[in-house]
This record gives sequence, structure tokens and C-alpha cells, in this order.
Amino acid sequence: MNRPFNFSAGPAAIPEEVLQQAAAEMLDWHGCGMGVMEMSHRGKEFISIYETAEADVRELLAIPAHFKILFMQGGGIAENAIVPMNLSRAGVVDFVVTGSWSQKSFKEAAKYAQPHLAASGKDSGFTRPVAPKDWQLSSNPAYVHICSNETIDGVEFHELPDLRALGCDAPLVIDFSSHVASRPVDWSRVGLAFGGAQKNIGPAGLTIVVVREDLLGHALPITPSAFDFKTVADNHSMFNTPPTWGIYMAGLTFQWLKRQREGELTGIAAMEQRNIAKAQRFYDYVDGSQLYVNAIDPAWRSRMNIPFQLRDASRNEAFLAGAKAAGLLQLKGHKSVGGMRASLYNAMPMAGVQALIAFMQEFERTSA
Ligand SMILES: *Cc1c(COP(=O)(O)O)cnc(C)c1O
Repeated sequence: MNRPFNFSAGPAAIPEEVLQQAAAEMLDWHGCGMGVMEMSHRGKEFISIYETAEADVRELLAIPAHFKILFMQGGGIAENAIVPMNLSRAGVVDFVVTGSWSQKSFKEAAKYAQPHLAASGKDSGFTRPVAPKDWQLSSNPAYVHICSNETIDGVEFHELPDLRALGCDAPLVIDFSSHVASRPVDWSRVGLAFGGAQKNIGPAGLTIVVVREDLLGHALPITPSAFDFKTVADNHSMFNTPPTWGIYMAGLTFQWLKRQREGELTGIAAMEQRNIAKAQRFYDYVDGSQLYVNAIDPAWRSRMNIPFQLRDASRNEAFLAGAKAAGLLQLKGHKSVGGMRASLYNAMPMAGVQALIAFMQEFERTSA
């Protein structure tokens, strides 16, 4: 069976090998007579799935020992509340707004903390963020929040800001939902990272939180116990029933990632190489075309989510219909941006990018 190429921003394509393995194990996981969805989260079978997934993601992302890895529920949007509840101590929190997702985080935090807008890329239409040296950080914020890849606007931090170099000792919080596992993370610059799984890791319903140990234990009294990071960490993500299926699928994806090779490179380094090549190919094509345009400052262009417009927007519906007929799915842009968006997550092979470019060339030729 030849599956179409799926460019969804999320929930998004999952590697075919992962789906096939999950299908093969659906009724009977490793001869135990149960599928993963039917197992107790406290049984030895699931505990082994959980421990392997945790160890694999720690190895893949090179997460240091003084960070806890939490498998939670609620998604990225719930973390917009859970993070300030746990880290703000109801004090001042700095936000750098680079697009829709960081804007959402900024707004939600006002229920629990005193959010301060340290910078906003709004003046440029979110085509580029404000450079870190121009951020107006508060004197002593509880933390500084950024969205390290703006899924809707297509803006990505290619280097995480070094807050200490900016004279700020506060921990950096990153929402890495839509580029987690696409590139390495410099943990020396991070206090907490969170992300929903449904972009680059697995099915919706699982949220991964990676948090420096010393930040635990200061949750506001109103924090639900199931969302208190210390409670979750102390109970190895089993204070409540964790999203077992999501953890299992993420674990299969981590094993798939560990098998990836590009020359000498393996795992995340191999993925990063591939992601750079895919994005480069696509941006080069868009920049050289007469019909398509991407307005993002080249230094800030996302490797994962590439919004693009047709110069003749009246052709949008014809473009989407033609793409679908050519086996290229879910290219419609987010309603707030319009046009198209191609999400090139880990599961998208170079062949998918080439097929999309071939379609776009043909569409441009026949539109002229
Ligand atoms: C998708 C996404 C979210 C929201 O995830 P939900 O699972 O809908 O809560 C948050 N942040 C970013 C950057 C995202 O891409």
C-alpha cells in the first residue's frame, strides 16, 4: 500500500514502521495476551514500556540527570496554566511573544501570575522575533517563557537564548511542542521544556515535560495534585493513570529515531541533518518561484512548519484539491494566517518534499 504524504501540523504523520508495529502488537503485546490499551499501568508489562520510553528519550535528547521527565495529560494548552501554577510563585513572569502560541501562553498566565511582555514580534507581523539583546526583561522574573517553534507562524529559534548572558538568572521555559526531537536541545540554557506529543512524537493525549529538579516543589496551593510537577515526578508519572497508549506509541517512535542514520550520524543528529535538507529544499523552491511566497525572515524560518501563500489567492481551493488528488494531504494553512502550510516533521521523508515540489511546479505551470 502506498500511503499519501501527510503535511498536517498536528496531529501529524507518524512513521509507517511505527504504525505497522503498533498494528501487529494491537491484540497481543509481546505474547502477554493483552493489548497495550488493556494493561494496568502498574503491571510489569507496562512498567517496562514506560521505563524503556523514558530511558530512550533521555538518551536521544541527551537530557541530563538533574532533569525529571514527566509524562502528563492536558497538552500544550494545559501547560500554559500548569507551568505558571508550578513555577511562578504568583510573581512576575516574562514572556517573549513570537506568534500565536506564545501569545496564548502569555494570556493564560495572567490567571496565576503577573505576566510581563518582554518583547513582541507583532510589529513585523511575526515574520521575525525581537532579537534577545533587545528584550525588556524584568529585574527578577520567576521565569522567561518562549515558544521555540511557532507552529502557526513558521518562526523558529535556531539557537536558544542564553539568559545569563543577558544578565538574567531566571530559568528559561520553552514550549517545544512542534519541534521536539527534530534537533538537539541545549539543556544548559533551559529550566523547563514542555510539548504535546501529537506533532513529532506520537498520538494526541500525551504531554512531555522536562524540568530541572531544583524548580520542583513551589506549586501554588490551588494547583491540582495531578498537575503538581513534584507530585507527578515523585510518583514517576503514575500519580494518576498516565496516557498509556501515548507513552507506548512515543516509545516506538523513540526506537525508530534511534535506528535512523545519515552517514556517520544517528538518532536526533541524523534527524536534524535530514530536517535541514528537507526545509532547505522547500524554501529554495518557494523563493525561486513566481507563484508562491514565504514572508518569514530567512534567519528565523522554521524547519518544521512552513506557511506559504499563493500570490493569486483565488487559486487556493484549486491548489488544495489538486494536491489532495496527487496524494498530498492537509496542506491548508491555519485560518489566522491563510494560504498553505507544509509541516515537515520527522516522519516526512525527503520523497514527500520532492513530491510536493513537483506538484507545485506543475500547478504553477498550468496556472500561468
Ligand atoms: C500544538 C501546539 C500546542 C497545543 O497543543 P494542545 O495539545 O492543543 O494543547 C501548544 N504549543 C505549540 C507550539 C503547539 O504547536
